[in-house]
Amino acid sequence: MAFDIDMIKKVYGQYAARIAAARKVVNKPLTLTEKILYTHLWDGNAAQAYERGGSYVDFAPDRVAMQDATAQMALLQFMQAGRPRVAVPSTVHCDHLIRAKEGAEKDLAVATTESREVFDFLASVSNKYGIGFWKPGAGIIHQVVLENYAFPGGLMIGTDSHTVNAGGLGMLAIGVGGADACDVMAGLPWELKFPKLIGIKLTGKLNGWTAPKDVILKVAGILTVKGGTGCIVEYFGEGAQSMSCTGKGTICNMGAEIGATTSTFGYDESMERYLRATNRADVADAANTIKEHLTADPEVYADPERYFDQVIEINLSELEPHLNGPFTPDLATPVSKMKEEAAKNGWPLKVEWGLIGSCTNSSYEDLSRAASVAKQAVEKGLATKAEFGINPGSEQVRYTAERDGLLDTFTDLDATIFTNACGPCIGMWARVGAEKAEKNTIVHSFNRNFAKRADGNPNTYAFVASPELVAAIAISGNLSFNPITDTLVNDKGEAVKLDPPSGDELPQKGFDVEDPGYQAPAADGSNVQVVVSPTSDRLQLLDPFPAWEGTDLTGLKLLIKAKGKCTTDHISMAGPWLKYRGHLDNISNNLLIGAVNFFNDKTDWVKNQLTNEYGPVPATQRDYKAAGIGSIVVGDENYGEGSSREHAAMEPRHLGVRAVLVKSFARIHETNLKKQGMLALTFASKDDYDKILEDDTFDIVGLTDFAPNKSLKLVIHHIDGSVDEIEVNHSYNEQQIGWFRAGGALNIIRQGQAL
Ligand code: SF4
Repeated sequence: MAFDIDMIKKVYGQYAARIAAARKVVNKPLTLTEKILYTHLWDGNAAQAYERGGSYVDFAPDRVAMQDATAQMALLQFMQAGRPRVAVPSTVHCDHLIRAKEGAEKDLAVATTESREVFDFLASVSNKYGIGFWKPGAGIIHQVVLENYAFPGGLMIGTDSHTVNAGGLGMLAIGVGGADACDVMAGLPWELKFPKLIGIKLTGKLNGWTAPKDVILKVAGILTVKGGTGCIVEYFGEGAQSMSCTGKGTICNMGAEIGATTSTFGYDESMERYLRATNRADVADAANTIKEHLTADPEVYADPERYFDQVIEINLSELEPHLNGPFTPDLATPVSKMKEEAAKNGWPLKVEWGLIGSCTNSSYEDLSRAASVAKQAVEKGLATKAEFGINPGSEQVRYTAERDGLLDTFTDLDATIFTNACGPCIGMWARVGAEKAEKNTIVHSFNRNFAKRADGNPNTYAFVASPELVAAIAISGNLSFNPITDTLVNDKGEAVKLDPPSGDELPQKGFDVEDPGYQAPAADGSNVQVVVSPTSDRLQLLDPFPAWEGTDLTGLKLLIKAKGKCTTDHISMAGPWLKYRGHLDNISNNLLIGAVNFFNDKTDWVKNQLTNEYGPVPATQRDYKAAGIGSIVVGDENYGEGSSREHAAMEPRHLGVRAVLVKSFARIHETNLKKQGMLALTFASKDDYDKILEDDTFDIVGLTDFAPNKSLKLVIHHIDGSVDEIEVNHSYNEQQIGWFRAGGALNIIRQGQAL
């Protein structure tokens, strides 16, 4: 699959000199994260030490990965950049646009018919511009990347927030918007604020029912969904080394749920085993030659408090299995406490579905451990009380799991084997009866459990757990079932206990696959035609956004003052809207429809200041746009948390929103807004959020002197004639101010200027 050993050897060849240069300027022992960042500086050898949490730095990533939903917009932008071929190895993975309904064979056939236009577009753009293409059914992007492309010490970006999964193989892999991917594919540097560092020391060893997933569920409980913001998390210690590579991937994957830029582990034998098992002995051999550079300097782990900004220690021997949820992945409940927490909070105990899969937990090891639980159920005469659905992570995992009888074990419990794709994890689940919006509970091994995420039902209480615990709980049909202490009654009326799960880290007979689903690009794509029909409702070529008019912005209307959690799912919903990800105007009809209006606690119901009537958010904004009036969106803490989808930034830009003003931003979304030429602002005093009223009109003052570290002024005109003036902050540097002035970063690339 062309993982490019020459590129990897080139990266490793630079390591020693670049680390020596970094040591000189940093002048202290280096963490693994610093080693990877300093070896990937755009300018080569480090000439200065960068301030953690302060300096904006240009990097040169080794790879780009894109999934089908975000690749459409990334590639539509890349097509505008005027480059003949991508400058770094890049891949597209078709995994999001496949509904889970009747099982893999039928669902895949439906998806390839329904989304043929999009898949053909992605295949032809990939073919033309030198991008590797993974067909629908080949697998979930992050599992396929781990199996084929991730390598210790590498730096990659991907247009998906769970790109971070590749940290399991010792990479720094970071989720970005399509505009960032477009820059890197166009041969430009990629900018990131030098992160702060969190060190997590893992002592002891996992045992019994506890799995790698429980490490990150515990960490999410400690750090919350915001705790990792602006940070890279580095795991170390004997506990880290005792886990499998794919288990490490699970932990890094859900680093996205604590807002971390990414997470990683030092190179160790589990990674070497995984590289060799996935047919990459040459990468393992190359990594072994620079082993000492692929982990932190020994002084760092000996005295972590000195070298990390924050240190957490977890003893794996004492860690309990967890269930996190509902509605947020950081609400962590140890399995032994679930009975009382569920009773206290009114969570429905009856479990309707157990879902195993997603990029978080769909490795061979995951399936084999969950299958060991399923097997016991059959052998001990237990019938599963909940329904079961499985999404294998890749065709390689599925094929091997089928060969080894694991899938049969699940189907013996009447499980439905869905496509090797995201399915229920991204709302692509045609769940029977979900439209009735009944209160119900599901358990899954995914990473996110925001309201409506899996099945569109706001009353589905989704709990996240390890695959083996999901299996046990689905069999019991009871959220409060604790397999460590509780028994179940079998078909003979006997009380039986499930033994702790067991499984294989890697398949004993090796991985196998007939057709992995990969399509290599043309050696010369200059004659490949990319066709987008002007009448398509799925794809639309982009028009450049207009440049800033050169004046302060005045007379802006309030579109919505969002209350509480406002994730990218609330700003640009997934599920049925995924089909419009390549058509900016059509998908803009979901703008902020999930956000709660502060003034009436309703979703998608805001006051139109032109008519004084209430209506849906997108229609209201289209009215403002038609009248040539700009608007602002006001939000709460961690606005835009969740995915990397830039539609959440492009839609408001397309419909004429000029600024988003919030208490705080999630990193990727803030960058996405900047890239699209929007103003991303924060309240200097968070209490000023309370000064925003429903009928307000705003002026943003100070834009003609827009400069780094210089606040702007917001003038709030209330309907009673009174005026408030408040200070608003921003984190734009010079380059980003250039994006704002040009109307978006892409306008600068198109003009052929260096970013
Ligand atoms: Fe797919 Fe879910 Fe993973 Fe996103 S989090 S890549 S939707 S499986």
